[in-house]
Amino acid sequence: MEITRFAPSPTGHLHIGGARTALFSYLFAKANKGKFLLRFEDTDQERSKDEYVDSILNSLNWMQIKLDAEPVYQSKKISKHKELAIELYKKGFAYACDCSEETLSKMREEQIAKKQKPKYNGLNRNKNIEFAEGMVLRFKFPLEGESKFKDLILGDIAINNKEFDDFIILRSDGSPTYNFSAAVDDKDMKITTVIRGDDHITNTLKQINVLEVLGATIPKYAHLPMVLAESGKRLSKRDGAEDILDYKKKGYLSDALINYLVRLGWSYGEEEIFSLEKLQKIFDLSDVNSSPSKYSQDLLNWYNNKYLNFLSAEELVLNVKENTEIDFSEINNGNLAISLLAKGANSLNQIAEDSIYFFEDPQVNFDALKIDMNKKILFSEFRKKLKEIDFEKNLIEKFIKEFLQANDLKFPELGKPLRVILTGKENAPSISDLLFILGKETSLKRIEYTLND
Ligand code: GLU
Repeated sequence: MEITRFAPSPTGHLHIGGARTALFSYLFAKANKGKFLLRFEDTDQERSKDEYVDSILNSLNWMQIKLDAEPVYQSKKISKHKELAIELYKKGFAYACDCSEETLSKMREEQIAKKQKPKYNGLNRNKNIEFAEGMVLRFKFPLEGESKFKDLILGDIAINNKEFDDFIILRSDGSPTYNFSAAVDDKDMKITTVIRGDDHITNTLKQINVLEVLGATIPKYAHLPMVLAESGKRLSKRDGAEDILDYKKKGYLSDALINYLVRLGWSYGEEEIFSLEKLQKIFDLSDVNSSPSKYSQDLLNWYNNKYLNFLSAEELVLNVKENTEIDFSEINNGNLAISLLAKGANSLNQIAEDSIYFFEDPQVNFDALKIDMNKKILFSEFRKKLKEIDFEKNLIEKFIKEFLQANDLKFPELGKPLRVILTGKENAPSISDLLFILGKETSLKRIEYTLND
């Protein structure tokens, strides 16, 4: 059975890239009827914060990503990992090193002067130094050959072992390092496929070597190409939100975000709309693109607009109220009003912002409409006749048509200023819809207010 994991360091909120990694990992597990696990790599005590653990858990929850077991906290395993590192040392797979800061920086300087890549040169590799607290343990990286694996997205990856150094697995303060702990935990958690960003490729080669000496089955690996900004540069806080939950606050629907995220590097023929349920069946890593994808706010908005319009009016009312406290059930014809606004909106919050005129009267000054003064008479006439009709949608439509004909007007001559009179805005639903939703009393009051101002 496939077992995948998402292994964030809780040193910040979950952002676009991390959320996509988590989603791909989750979908891969589900599509293979496997398990999805979560591991907090929280060993950096200074930078890891409970606040971020909570925020990551809330983000995954909002994204409907369910865990198949309680989250693992790497910080709880520090002493176990330390013991294991010492065991590797005893077995001869690691060695103690007491190089001082000074020795190490001299080594670096000399290498840089010789235009070599700075790395530990193996000075203490064969000295059989006896390990004592305060010393570091270094992994005996193979000197010959190459380290390699077949990436499920990127294909064959191999690097000559001469490029690596004997990296530290246990620091002088007794804490294990990321590459060691990650390998040990992947083994302990029986991870079968590791899915993570392509910035981890060199780490993977190091971890494979650690896993080999631990006698573990080497998992399969899939490295996801980066998500770049629209400019092609690294995605920064300014491009995608720093915290996935900000999208929730701004009124994005999680189904829309999921659909958008999955399309960042994954495709399935010409299809664009995918429910989470469907993704859990069809997601396959072989459909992931091996080149970077680009974040697009416009595309995310497009998806959100689509998903807003998949919702029923009742669902929209509930969602808008939850996000903004604007309650369409308080107004007449609220369901119709919200459905019309959703047509042109990119978010729940935009629906709320665009809806102000349904809740309070705009104050429109006739002069500000910048139309001929004698149109005032026309609007008076319109108002007088409107008062006579029954406020049913088809009757309103019929009335407007007849009024235009009788006065030899083109629709915009009446419609444009009337829309502003009724809403204070130039962009709003159709006049007949507006009149119907606002109702006779409010419509007449708003026209009268503008004419008398
Ligand atoms: N903790 C690492 C990170 O947040 C992820 C490591 C991994 O997936 O193995 O980048």
